[in-house]
Amino acid sequence: MTHANLIGGEWIRGNDAVIDVNPSDTADVVGEYDRASAEQVDHALDAARQAFPAWARTTPQVRADLLDKVGTEILARRGELADLLAREEGKTLAEATGEVGRAAQIFKFFAAEALRVPGERLGSVRPGIDVEITREPIGVIGLITPWNFPIAIPAWKTAPALAYGNCVVLKPAELVPGSAWALADILHRAGLPAGVFNLVVGRGSVVGEKLVSDPRVDAVSFTGSVPTGRGILERAARRGAKVQLEMGGKNPLVVLADADMDTAVRVALDGAFFQTGQRCTASSRLIVEQAVEEKFIAGLTEAIRKQVVDDARKQGTTIGPVVDQSQLDQDLRYVDIGKQEGAKLALGGERLNREKSGFYMAPALFTGTRNDMRINREEIFGPVASVIAVKDYDEALAVANDTSFGLCSGIVTTSLKKAAHFRRNVETGMVMVNLPTAGVDYHVPFGGRKGSSYGPREQGRYAAEFYTQVKTAYVMQS
Ligand code: NDP
Repeated sequence: MTHANLIGGEWIRGNDAVIDVNPSDTADVVGEYDRASAEQVDHALDAARQAFPAWARTTPQVRADLLDKVGTEILARRGELADLLAREEGKTLAEATGEVGRAAQIFKFFAAEALRVPGERLGSVRPGIDVEITREPIGVIGLITPWNFPIAIPAWKTAPALAYGNCVVLKPAELVPGSAWALADILHRAGLPAGVFNLVVGRGSVVGEKLVSDPRVDAVSFTGSVPTGRGILERAARRGAKVQLEMGGKNPLVVLADADMDTAVRVALDGAFFQTGQRCTASSRLIVEQAVEEKFIAGLTEAIRKQVVDDARKQGTTIGPVVDQSQLDQDLRYVDIGKQEGAKLALGGERLNREKSGFYMAPALFTGTRNDMRINREEIFGPVASVIAVKDYDEALAVANDTSFGLCSGIVTTSLKKAAHFRRNVETGMVMVNLPTAGVDYHVPFGGRKGSSYGPREQGRYAAEFYTQVKTAYVMQS
């Protein structure tokens, strides 16, 4: 089945198509998704611009009802959408079901937020004047999304953009167009006016590039890798467009000697390896106090051995395949780099063969690593984690902060004092105590510091910072 792009309220066929392949079974084609041509992206941008004035003036009730309807349909079709997501991206069915549910909750949350767009009214410092501060939509927002959360990330960018009265042109990652297409179809059938939401599938270097450089796009929200994000920032800033970037992580999980070991192992296993380690919040650096290093490694290796790496949609699978050949090559390359750097590969790190031909990899754990090794400095984005032993809490905190990234961090401890100190002093946008570094709520801000993020936070009420602009009005009292 072929799938066209949604442009100006119509499904428009492209000249060529992306072949969406199942990473659990490369013989299985999920679907063909048309690429938008340069003229079609132009058309989408014109349509979004034309739709903007009327959409910006709709009542909050209209926007709330539409977004709520979208959330309701996603929830009602949760099983089917999760199957599509697991099939095109490779996360397990349970993980995919969670992600689809999350996308629905995000639409429902922002349906309600459309009713309470923030504003303020203050007295003036001058007599006889009122001051009113309002938040207005920005205009047309270009959304560029990665492959690792094929429906949740398009949802957490699209829902606030629409709730606050903006129009959207979405370019999903070419690897996973299916979930984004399904979302576009739901938005279209919910009755959004033509041009308010547009889907343009295509290469980042072509379609993405156009969204970043075209003056008809007022703001760009991007999630993906650091090099792509940096390039987008430079090009968008040159023309004065608003930019929000969510990029990589090299997230530390600190395990202290006083930790409950079962909690430490469970939290590390989840954070490092679930969703095949393909999360920007994954715990890739496991910073462990020497006193419990041996016990922790023994517990974690035992837990890893119990994992079932197989077809994402097969019952019993706990870790699905890597997303594609090039990501698998990258993961295996880093396993070699780790070995060459002198790290000890405790287990895993090899390609696995399963009944079907897919990109299967055994979760890899390195021990005896140093924080200055490349495997601990560069984002691998696969099922690979390293143990870094430290002598005490102070060294653990220093190592946690010794990185160019700052997305998320975690600590496993029974000491309230050390947990509180860590929360205050760790240089990340999000911090977890006795919880995995990955796994967040949708009604609170998401984002990082240092090289991980740029611009206002995503999600929750903080999304208004990016998707609105502020106006201050002075009014003479009559
Ligand atoms: P990219 O950063 O390359 O891609 C993210 C999105 O940006 C995709 O939609 C991509 O399009 C688009 N894009 C690519 N180049 C440009 C450009 N020049 N201008 C505008 N948009 C562009 O990440 P990938 O998906 O290719 O993955 C590469 C690596 O990035 C991974 O191995 C991983 O290490 C990391 N990554 C990190 C993520 C995170 O959340 N931290 C998420 C995903 C990846 P296209 O469809 O062509 O890919």
